[in-house]
Amino acid sequence: MIKTRILSGTVALLSLAGFSGCRPAPESANTEPAESIPVLRSRQDGVMGTRLKITVIGDDPALLDRAMAAAAGEIKRVEDLMTDWRASELTSLNESAGQGPRAVPRELAAIISRGIELHRLTDSAFDITFAAAGKLWNFKTPPKSLPDPGKIKAALRHVNADAVKVSAADNTVELPAGMKLGLGGIAKGYGVDRAMKILRDHGIRNAIVDAGGDMKILGLEFGKPWKIAIKHPRRKGSALAVLNLTNTCLVTSGDYERFFEFEGKHYHHIIDPRTGYPARGCMSASVVAPNAEYADALATSMCVLGPEKGLELIERLPKIEAVLVGMDGKVHVSSGLRGQVPADGSEPASE
Ligand code: ADP
Ligand code: MG
Repeated sequence: MIKTRILSGTVALLSLAGFSGCRPAPESANTEPAESIPVLRSRQDGVMGTRLKITVIGDDPALLDRAMAAAAGEIKRVEDLMTDWRASELTSLNESAGQGPRAVPRELAAIISRGIELHRLTDSAFDITFAAAGKLWNFKTPPKSLPDPGKIKAALRHVNADAVKVSAADNTVELPAGMKLGLGGIAKGYGVDRAMKILRDHGIRNAIVDAGGDMKILGLEFGKPWKIAIKHPRRKGSALAVLNLTNTCLVTSGDYERFFEFEGKHYHHIIDPRTGYPARGCMSASVVAPNAEYADALATSMCVLGPEKGLELIERLPKIEAVLVGMDGKVHVSSGLRGQVPADGSEPASE
């Protein structure tokens, strides 16, 4: 689930070998620094089925720790609201499918509404109703057989975000019978946006929130842009690119973290809503955008759309950039990142 790495500035300049954290304070260092010398602190939590790493820089270690705890708590709150793995408001909504409009918390109605807009924007590649077909697949434990094609076909009748009715006036959502929503392609990004808001509310000005490859980057790392490596989807230990980032988000989706092999074929967790089968658009899609929710949904969509259609969309959207690796391994880079990302065919850097 870890698709990106924060590189320490100096380590990255000398060599990409063996980086793992940030300088100058080690992750576990708890020693009090001299007054007003900025320190870097981080914490790790398990959320939304992945690793959450929060990194902050500031003068007051106690404040940094409080801010990180509050930010981690915020992502957990979002998870509790939006998970469909256990009881939640989303689970209850799914259970109400076919029973008319159901009142939900405003926050849930709002993200569902944005999910539906993203369905339109991405030519139906992003579809929060994928779950009717998605639930037939299990990527947690390798299955003994593939889902029954007849069942997949039948489930596709319930995959269509256009059929979801959301009323912003009274925060109700209505799902037709058989429909089920899954927010796995967008909620993590939203949670990361919320967590960064909490850090900022605590006065933090330099930080990274990283939920398993969904990253929001604030300010600088000791006066320099944060260096983030995007992993190569197939070459272990290789970086596809190293980006210098500040005040932006970088989200990577791919077929190489949550998948199984069956009879020599690779099946992964992003579902093509047109077929009900794992998407075959990209091995890996990294999207840079001002907000993590948007980047999250777009990165998932790129894996369905593939590099050509995907880049066409990215180029139409202001302030959005992408690095896409097609199923043939070719690297495609949007116009705003050319020059920062090695041209296709060049040797990737080793980590
Ligand atoms: P990750 O969760 O590994 O970071 P993504 O952000 O790409 O990866 O999200 C993948 C998740 O999105 C899946 O596990 C599933 O919950 C959900 N999903 C799968 N296919 C789609 C789709 N076509 N549209 C919207 N969400 C999807
Ligand atoms: Mg996503």
